[in-house]
Amino acid sequence: MTKEGKAGAVVPAMGTPGDPMGIAMDEARAAAARGEVPVGAVLLGPDGAVLARAGNAVEAGHDAAAHAEMLVMRAAARRLGTPRLVDCTLVVTLEPCPMCAAAAVHFRIGRIVFGAYDPKGGGVDHGPRLFDRRECLHRPEWVGGVREREASALLRDFFAARRGP
Ligand SMILES: [Zn+2]
Repeated sequence: MTKEGKAGAVVPAMGTPGDPMGIAMDEARAAAARGEVPVGAVLLGPDGAVLARAGNAVEAGHDAAAHAEMLVMRAAARRLGTPRLVDCTLVVTLEPCPMCAAAAVHFRIGRIVFGAYDPKGGGVDHGPRLFDRRECLHRPEWVGGVREREASALLRDFFAARRGP
């Protein structure tokens, strides 16, 4: 079910050609093929243009912080020449973890659109619920559950294959 952190959050057109969630899922699938946990992300500029896209690169880079969200926020900031991604949208296949949610605050992300909920590892609608905390300095709008079934299936299939038949 789709849930919103703030009323009126803008969701980019999903399910259309060039759909950012579709791009994020392609990145997630590519990550799985590299042996990474299949999470993909896209960073959209204020005009909706794709500034960065990436999948998890934890194993490849020996970097436990190389979550897809971290990679696209850093890449977009470098591209724009500013650490503040005001009015930018982070689209990601899985609910961001507390680390990525906190980074989104630091990067001043305007809104977050995510696919699957993550009751165990999420930090937006689960766990610390970072943006709901009084001390949170910047609260991105967020929408969760966008193409949730496909997004969950990506992870489920990956872990089922790892466990073997
Ligand atoms: Zn993360």
